Amino acid sequence: MSQPHKVVIIGSGPAAHTAAIYAARAALEPVLFEGFMAAGIAAGGQLTTTTEVENFPGFPEGIMGPELMDRMRAQSLRFGTVIHTETVNEVDLSKRPFKFKADTIEGEAETLIIATGATAKRLDIPGARDNELWQRGISACAVCDGALPVFRNKPLAVVGGGDSAVEEASYLSKYGSKVYLIHRRDELRASKIMQQRAFDNPKIELVWWSEVVEALGSDGLERIRVKNVKSGEITELEVAGLFFAIGHVPNTAFLGGQIELDETGYIVTKPGTVETNVPGVFAAGDVQDKRWRQAITAAGTGCMAALSAEHFLASHGKL
Ligand code: FAD
Ligand code: NDP
Repeated sequence: MSQPHKVVIIGSGPAAHTAAIYAARAALEPVLFEGFMAAGIAAGGQLTTTTEVENFPGFPEGIMGPELMDRMRAQSLRFGTVIHTETVNEVDLSKRPFKFKADTIEGEAETLIIATGATAKRLDIPGARDNELWQRGISACAVCDGALPVFRNKPLAVVGGGDSAVEEASYLSKYGSKVYLIHRRDELRASKIMQQRAFDNPKIELVWWSEVVEALGSDGLERIRVKNVKSGEITELEVAGLFFAIGHVPNTAFLGGQIELDETGYIVTKPGTVETNVPGVFAAGDVQDKRWRQAITAAGTGCMAALSAEHFLASHGKL
């Protein structure tokens, strides 16, 4: 086997590419595995599944998600990052150098940066699928899409009962004429303070014991069918926007339990750092962040991961 790489980065979103840009500029010769439809998403990560990104600094007119990711990838390449379009399926973190196996390539790394992201859960219902009304009024990120003109002063709906659902409903209430918060039980999972925020907001209407079973519309979303799970009754609500806030799945299965994860599968990092419980393994982006989940926060932690890897290599005489 050839010499261990100084830095191997797994992932292809803003965290991975920011880590690559910093590591490459620090002459660490990073190798990045961007995945081949890893977690069901094209290389480039979650932003390849969206249209306009309006909140990433530096693009006052906005930029399409796939274009933003193409630009980040080009910037990684410009400084010499080696990119493989393969998914890393296995790692051995029992000793350094760490071992990894991708689809056809295997190797060793002195440090690893895990930036494999998370996948927003979506309801698999008629009308909400790809090539239907998904991204045409239906989204899994209110903070990303809620301010779009199409949602202004229109009734909107959020599905879920956790902190994200309440946060998204509160956020959307600034733009929509009203927000239905549709939950499958009659009790929110959200923290008490967040619950109170929903109850106190005159624009939020709670729709208990209910599931969205269909999305309807022609060019964009117009109506949803909502089923009362107790009575079985189906009603229609006119809405211009439907936002899923039913949780995310962090892409950590390939780690095989070798890194400390929290109860929902996110990598645990030491507060204020990107250090995992395995020295030399760093985690950046949504894979270790279930709260902020934004491109800019992912990029910020990607920067931290590359600088941390550099310090680690220096302190272990591996530079
Ligand atoms: P991700 O973007 O999650 O990408 C990680 C990628 O790594 C995976 O998708 C996959 O391609 C790859 N990968 C996974 N496992 C492996 C493996 N084992 N081997 C190799 N590769 C692997 N944020 C904003 O700031 N503004 C917005 O407008 C915005 N809009 C959004 C719209 C939608 C529809 C969604 C779903 C999210 C949006 N977000 C937005 C959130 C933003 O996309 C995420 O916070 C950000 O992409 C997280 O970046 P990340 O680097 O952690 O990884
Ligand atoms: P959660 O897993 O906490 O909540 C998901 C919600 O979606 C639950 O109410 C669940 O219902 C519902 N749900 C799940 N699957 C379905 C389905 N198929 N159909 C209908 N409803 C469904 O996820 P969150 O993203 O809200 O939060 C994740 C973590 O992040 C939590 O720890 C949360 O505290 C934290 N967070 C904190 C914030 C803050 O402090 N401001 C903001 C955002 C997140 P049920 O309750 O019936 O299971």
